[in-house]
Amino acid sequence: MDRVEYLIVGGGLAAVYAAAAIRGRDKAGKVVIIGDELHLPYDRVPLSKGYLMDRVKREALFPKKEQFLREQGITVIKGRRAVSLDVARRSILLDDGSETLFGKLLLATGGRPRRLPIPGSELRGIYYFRTIDDCEAIKQEILSAKRAVIVGGGFIGCELAAAFTAKGVETTIIEAASSMLSLAFDPTTAKWVESYFVEKGVKVVTGSSAAEFLGEGGRVTAVKTKDGTAFPADLVVVGIGIMPNTDLAEKAGLKVDRGIVVNEYLETDSPGIFAAGDVARFFHPVFQSHLRVEHYDVAVSHGRVAGANMAGGRVAFTEMPHFFSYMFDLTINAYGDMNKREVELRRGEVGRNGFMQFFFNGGRLTAFLSANRPPGEIKAAREILAAGASYERLKSISDLSRPLEEFVGQKV
Ligand code: NAP
Repeated sequence: MDRVEYLIVGGGLAAVYAAAAIRGRDKAGKVVIIGDELHLPYDRVPLSKGYLMDRVKREALFPKKEQFLREQGITVIKGRRAVSLDVARRSILLDDGSETLFGKLLLATGGRPRRLPIPGSELRGIYYFRTIDDCEAIKQEILSAKRAVIVGGGFIGCELAAAFTAKGVETTIIEAASSMLSLAFDPTTAKWVESYFVEKGVKVVTGSSAAEFLGEGGRVTAVKTKDGTAFPADLVVVGIGIMPNTDLAEKAGLKVDRGIVVNEYLETDSPGIFAAGDVARFFHPVFQSHLRVEHYDVAVSHGRVAGANMAGGRVAFTEMPHFFSYMFDLTINAYGDMNKREVELRRGEVGRNGFMQFFFNGGRLTAFLSANRPPGEIKAAREILAAGASYERLKSISDLSRPLEEFVGQKV
């Protein structure tokens, strides 16, 4: 039986940034990461963008290289799953039957793609998109694919549709909601992005869902929707969201509520056990509520905060959640809590020349979105958001004759 000071379950970004942060504070304690993939921890962000488009090299996907991990004395166990957690004994059981005792534990178990269990799911040519291996298999497929159908018009669906179209693959998105990206964007912006995709040649079917995959000779040939329409495809990708991997925590009796519940220090209800990244539902002191965020920046910063706290620090996670996306020549950035968009003020016309949206909740600015606006404006908007400016103070932010910088520093 092994005993380690710092055990990290999950081999993604939150895990590897946590390991580096632990080492920043504790040079000696044993740090072990257990991941079920056969790769070192990597960044998923470029997979649906530059890596798929052959613009990013494979080695650039790995933020902490083998040499760094070796020099820092961080052990990565690949291809192993943790199957149970014993909170009282402070131990983790792996799928090879081995047990590891830990001093501090981080659950950075991420999420898995939601499955679409409809007839025909076993056909070849149907993919989910989460890992390097998924991405590489799809890269091979698009060398010969002519028509792709993507089920789900969220981030994966939209980013893949943009990449496939640029690669000359005729692409259809089938989205259950009344518009693409309806989870992330307000209806006006979502509809505009949708029309932009249509203009770029993507076929978008909304308010519909895949009912069956049709095939020939064991390979997919079409996706049939609930109304009976068949959309021909030689490649299908399903991107209908992820499910946080909470099983380990739930079975161990930790508090779980659509994610592992942690405080602002990313610590669970069991002292010494932390959770970070996609799987964590964390208390955010600025919003005074719990959030779960499935994006890059949170995974990285969560890792750093959790690692520091595991090694004796007491750092609260207070950063504004952020996401970004590139689709064709559209660059979207959003900061803050985009889930509570009560009132909106818009700066600029919705369109490809760029615009910003400021969202208020309870009379206070809680989030903003920028589409194709320059970094200087995004910086100013971030400062306005950080100050927690009120609606009253920002009422005239839609007036383009007033530079955004004028609103920086305005609070109540
Ligand atoms: P997502 O962004 O949550 O979007 C899933 C979409 O699929 C939703 O619009 C959902 O509509 C729709 N949907 C659900 N069931 C469906 C069905 N049966 N048929 C058709 N549509 C259906 O999830 P994702 O695109 O799969 O992305 C997976 C994860 O990767 C997410 O955590 C995402 O944030 C992350 N990611 C982020 C980025 C980025 O930040 N740029 C890029 C790629 C991936 P309803 O709302 O009606 O359920």
